[in-house]
Amino acid sequence: MPIRVVSFDMEGTLIDHSYSKQIWEGDIPALYAEAHGLPLEEARRRVLSEYAEVGEGQPEWYDVGYWWKRLGLPHYWRDLPKRRKGECNVYPDVPRALARLGERYPLIISSNTIREFLKIQLECIDYPFSRVFSAPSDFGSVKKAPDFYQRVCDEIEIEPMELAHVGDHPEFDYRAPKLLGVKAYLLDRSGRLKGEEIVLDLNEFVERLL
Ligand SMILES: [Mg+2]
Repeated sequence: MPIRVVSFDMEGTLIDHSYSKQIWEGDIPALYAEAHGLPLEEARRRVLSEYAEVGEGQPEWYDVGYWWKRLGLPHYWRDLPKRRKGECNVYPDVPRALARLGERYPLIISSNTIREFLKIQLECIDYPFSRVFSAPSDFGSVKKAPDFYQRVCDEIEIEPMELAHVGDHPEFDYRAPKLLGVKAYLLDRSGRLKGEEIVLDLNEFVERLL
């Protein structure tokens, strides 16, 4: 079956991890330190251990509102995503890859990032994606749940085999979609891995599809 739609992960694929890292590992521990009168290092240690208790397999992990409550943080958090826009670094291979693939396919985003962050990240990329799916915000799930990619396909009315997806997480972006029949590619920007379904950058991904 020919590919009809191409899907991208966001963080680690189109933008690097600085934006989320700054918020999760910088801003939130700093606010926690302030709220609980702790030294920053102690606050960071505690916050990271709270994150670890939930784990990236749970949708709550990605939900800032959940953490705000759980950690007892002060202030309203909704201006935080915008304040960190400067930390949003788009990988240099992105504009050309999107332009080339976009000539032939509708492009979508399938991400584990919450919608409030995605909105800012999309402004940095400045490409008119056909659809943007956030597993935690849209479906209350995580991309590793087998039904995530099925729901995406249902929404855009294609078969899993007609979807190509690329991302940097071996489970969420490769094994989970592949199990469903999606044509999945694992992006390994470090270049350590080799294989037919592994790509070193997005130019290589484009070459596989065009
Ligand atoms: Mg990623």
